Amino acid sequence: MMNFQNIAILFLIGTISFSCSQQNDSTQTAQSESQTLTVFAKGDKVTNDNFIGTVWVNYLAETDTVHNVNVGSVTFEPGARTNWHYHKGGQILLVTEGKGLYQEEGKPIEIIERGQVIKCPPNIEHWHGATQTEAMTHIAIGTNTNIGGAVWLKPVTDEEYSTL
Ligand code: MN
Repeated sequence: MMNFQNIAILFLIGTISFSCSQQNDSTQTAQSESQTLTVFAKGDKVTNDNFIGTVWVNYLAETDTVHNVNVGSVTFEPGARTNWHYHKGGQILLVTEGKGLYQEEGKPIEIIERGQVIKCPPNIEHWHGATQTEAMTHIAIGTNTNIGGAVWLKPVTDEEYSTL
């Protein structure tokens, strides 16, 4: 027999389990968001002179005789950037985190953000990096690596870097 008290208890249980499942949902959303922020590890700190500032690289796929591409996730801390350079076979940048800068020779600096895709044509001098205040991570895909890789040039001066 369902008396009023039983109905009241059932209602109470229903309310509690509803609020619990709400809480679980928001926890799961927060977890999956933090996972998408770190799909690939930052990798190792770059120690060569082709960059200014603190840069991390995680080599995801090296080129081989079947795949004429190399893929790496590169993280620039605020103020960090590549030197001027070009790619004999071109390059594609997939910005996965933060806000950064990209400039081709003779063109203004562009602001690039998470979700943006940049195609760097072969043999066009350019540089890429973080903004002065925000870190930026991109996946760099070296294309047509059978033609050749990056050719490194002079550093991006503080003056060039701050000319937005
Ligand atoms: Mn490049």
